Amino acid sequence: MTEKILVIGAGITGVCIAESLRRAGRSVTLIDRVPPGDTAQTSYGNAGLLAREGVGPILDTGIMLQLPKLLLDPNSPVKLRWSYLLRLIPWALPALRNGFKDRAHHIVTAMNELIYDTVEQHSAIANGTDAAQYIQKGELTLLYRKKSDFTASKFINDAKKAVGIEWEERDLAMLKERDAALGDAYTFGAAYPDHGWLTDPAAYVAALARHFTNSGGTFLNREVVDIGTDRITCTNGEEITGDTIILATGAWSKKLAKTFGHNVPLQGERGYHILLKNPSQVPDLPYLITDNKFGLTPMLGGLRCAGTTEFAPLDAEPSNSPIKLLEKSVKQVYPDLTWESTETWMGHRPTTVDSLPMLGRTKSAPNVIYAFGGQHLGLTMGPKVAQIIRDIVMDKPTNIDLSPYAVDRFG
Ligand SMILES: Cc1cc2nc3c(=O)[nH]c(=O)nc-3n(C[C@H](O)[C@H](O)[C@H](O)COP(=O)(O)OP(=O)(O)OC[C@H]3O[C@@H](n4cnc5c(N)ncnc54)[C@H](O)[C@@H]3O)c2cc1C
Repeated sequence: MTEKILVIGAGITGVCIAESLRRAGRSVTLIDRVPPGDTAQTSYGNAGLLAREGVGPILDTGIMLQLPKLLLDPNSPVKLRWSYLLRLIPWALPALRNGFKDRAHHIVTAMNELIYDTVEQHSAIANGTDAAQYIQKGELTLLYRKKSDFTASKFINDAKKAVGIEWEERDLAMLKERDAALGDAYTFGAAYPDHGWLTDPAAYVAALARHFTNSGGTFLNREVVDIGTDRITCTNGEEITGDTIILATGAWSKKLAKTFGHNVPLQGERGYHILLKNPSQVPDLPYLITDNKFGLTPMLGGLRCAGTTEFAPLDAEPSNSPIKLLEKSVKQVYPDLTWESTETWMGHRPTTVDSLPMLGRTKSAPNVIYAFGGQHLGLTMGPKVAQIIRDIVMDKPTNIDLSPYAVDRFG
């Protein structure tokens, strides 16, 4: 009898896993409460960056020093709903601890393994599908107010160099030579070659999913309310059996993982985007605005500004202040920018305390495999995570050290 694999979650992670396993000849059913490419997915509204340079932990010592200001300043790109503070502390303290140098080195190495060849990985999975049209290759420039803001991140710059990440330094004149519409607020840039981005992340996920179903895979639109070692239960009480069950449920994974005795230190880190439609100017390459923490990405629908971080319960209503901040911040990059209308969006980054995803079989239920925790880079690492999960399903030896992502590492 053919092994039946259930993949729960049809965001970038689940879709890449389902398609990789289908290509390996497996019978795969992909299950989600929303269709692939839906606005409820974090994969819908991200900045679209294939950010090979993003190897650092989500909180490094540089951010830690700024944290009091970041949390108290009303114009800060990091927000906390104070009523959420007590619930955040068990996640925040170890997350801060993991930003210290002694642990951060381990994170840089493990992250690098997942993202060093992201553009090639995306090209490989999208090749021959409609998704391929959304991949763009080109450099990513990190913009800083001044050069000293860049050199202050010495640890992370050294760590990037150590894993072979290169960049070119640009002063304001060089930045303006490339992009005359830039204002004077950001006077220094670090331009990373060999990067890429997606011009419509949601359409990309939807196209990969379409290819998966057109090629024999199955998609079921269901909400999973309970999960066992060989079956899942959906809202209507329907049970679906599977030989292997893969949890690719992003920021919503914590509750399902509790079934297997795991109290995963996973935080839904909320982020926002504004998509500026018919803007007066669009860069031909993306930027990352380092102080206000958002990506500025040329997309098919317009100019997308996506980022900021808000700590609040998973089901809390979106806030208005990150949207206002993004609108204000983009004008600091492009002072003369105008646009016709704005789409706004909020999503949840699935982030563990050590910035690394949870990948592998659970000890208490070896048929259940975790595949979540892509944090700020879940899009970047999607196809590589899928390759790893495919090899785990097939019990194929891998030359990647999987221990940093072990699902039992938090007990
Ligand atoms: C503002 C912002 C900007 C970002 N920019 C980037 C970027 O430039 N580059 C990058 O690499 N990453 C970026 N990210 C991070 C990236 O978007 C995420 O890491 C990634 O989308 C996570 O993908 P996922 O498939 O794991 O989760 P999701 O896309 O959230 O998918 C999870 C799916 O699981 C489903 N699900 C959950 N529970 C159940 C259930 N019980 N039953 C049925 N279905 C269920 C959900 O409906 C959802 O469809 C950004 C994130 C944000 C918020």
